[in-house]
Amino acid sequence: MSDTADTLLLHDSLTRARKPFAPIDPDNVRLYVCGPTVYDLAHIGNARPVVVFDVLARLLRRRHPRVTYVRNITDVDDKINARSLETGEPIGAITARTAAEFERDMAALGCLPPDVEPRATQHIPEMIAIIERLIAGGHAYAAEGHVLFSVASDPGYGRLSGRSPDELLAGARIDVAPYKRDPGDFVLWKPSTPELPGWDSPWGRGRPGWHIECSAMAWRYLGEAFDLHGGGHDLIFPHHENEMAQSCCAFPGTGFARTWVHNGMLLVNGEKMSKSLGNFVTVRDVLANGPWAGEAFRLLLLKTHYRMPLDYAVSRLEEARGELDDFYNALFKAPATDPAAPIVAEMAGWALAPLLDDLNTPLALARLHDLRTLENVASTGGSATAVLGRIGRAWHAAPGQAAAAIRAAGAVLGLYQSDPKAWRQGGAAEGDAGGAEAVEAAIEARLAARRRKDWAEADRIRAELAAQGIVLEDGPKGTSWRRG
Ligand SMILES: [Zn+2]
Repeated sequence: MSDTADTLLLHDSLTRARKPFAPIDPDNVRLYVCGPTVYDLAHIGNARPVVVFDVLARLLRRRHPRVTYVRNITDVDDKINARSLETGEPIGAITARTAAEFERDMAALGCLPPDVEPRATQHIPEMIAIIERLIAGGHAYAAEGHVLFSVASDPGYGRLSGRSPDELLAGARIDVAPYKRDPGDFVLWKPSTPELPGWDSPWGRGRPGWHIECSAMAWRYLGEAFDLHGGGHDLIFPHHENEMAQSCCAFPGTGFARTWVHNGMLLVNGEKMSKSLGNFVTVRDVLANGPWAGEAFRLLLLKTHYRMPLDYAVSRLEEARGELDDFYNALFKAPATDPAAPIVAEMAGWALAPLLDDLNTPLALARLHDLRTLENVASTGGSATAVLGRIGRAWHAAPGQAAAAIRAAGAVLGLYQSDPKAWRQGGAAEGDAGGAEAVEAAIEARLAARRRKDWAEADRIRAELAAQGIVLEDGPKGTSWRRG
C-alpha cells in the first residue's frame, strides 16, 4: 500500500483519533470481534456490529492476501444459566440451538461467516493459563474460590474508556464482596455449585468471568498482539477495558489490539431497546417481513455511518426496500457486458473509495446511486451530461457498464448480489418457486392468446395477474414480470 490515497483510515477508540490502519503483518491481517452470548434470539442491536465488521473484513480481504477474522460465541454465562433454570432446557441445548439460530440470522443479513468462531467452553485451559500468569505477575489474587483482577496493579487501567477511577466504579455496577481487595477488582474465575457448569482449576471447580473468555480466545487464534478489536460501543466499559487490562498484564509489552473500533448504538423509534419498554426487535422479526427483508435491513444499517447512533423503524425498512427495487430494476434491464472492462473497475473503485475514510458507507451508497442513474441514462440512450456533471468524471459508459460496477462494488458492501429477476419476482431466497411457476404459465397462456389474436383473453390474464400485484413488462427480450 505505497499510495497514501489508498490508505485505510479508521477511528481508534483508544487514541480517540482517526489513524492509518497499518497491520503488524500485512500478509495476514488479524481481527477479533466480540460475538453473542447465546441464550436468546439475536436482536437488531446485536446485528449491527456483525454487519459493520463484515463490511470491514470484506474490504480488508480485497487489500490483503489473508485476513483472520475471529468472532467468538459466549456459551458460558450467568444469563444462560438463569435461562436454563427458568425454562428447564439443558444449558448445552440452549447454547447449541441459539448459536445455530444466530448463524442463520446473520447469513440472512448477507454476513459471511468469520474464519474462526470459537466457543468459550472449549478454551478453558487457555483462560486458566492467562489467570495463572496474572497471579504470578501480581495482577490477580485468589480469594474464597474466586480469582480477581487487581485494578490497582495496572497503571494503564481506564485508558480505553477514558474514565477516572471514580467514574469507573460508578459504571461497573460493583458487587460489594468481602473477598475483594478493591471494589473495582473484577472476577476472572468464580466457584460453581454442583448444578452449574464448572471446570476443575487450581482454585477449585468453577467457571470463568466473561472478560477473560475473549482475552483467551484472541490469544489462542491471533497471538499476544493483533491488529484490530471490534464490538459495539456499549462494550468499551467494562468488557473491553477489562480484556485489555488482562491481556496487557499477562503479556507485558505486547500491547494487545493495535486499533479498537466500536459501532454506535441502535435505537428503535428513537428509544433505546430495553426489556422494560418492551421494544425489543429481533432479527427474526425483521426477516418476517419477507424474503427481501434481510438485504433491506443490511442496507438500512449501512446508510448510517457505523459510529453514529441509528434509529430503526419499519418505515425505514420499507424505504430501503424501495431503493433495492430501483437497483434491481436497473440491474435487470442492463445488458450483459464484460465485467473486466477497465471502466467498470474504475467506476467501482470510485464508489468504494469512501470506505477508506473510516468506512464511510453512506457516501459509498450515494455514489452507487449515481452509478444507477448513469446506467439508466446510458441504457435509455439519453444524455448523460447532467449525471456526469454531478459525478465530476467524464465517464462515457456503455449500457451495462455502470450496472457491472454496481455489482462489483456491491460485493464489498454485501449488497446488490441477488438475482435481479428473482428479486423483482418477490425475492427469491427461499420459498415462492411454485408462485413463480404459476406466473410463468399465465404469461405463456397470455402469449398464446395474443398469437391467436384473442385480445380479450390476453387482457384478462394481464388483469388477473395485476390483481395479484404482478406487473408485466413487454420488451425486446420478451415479457418479464415483477411484483409491483
Ligand atoms: Zn469480548
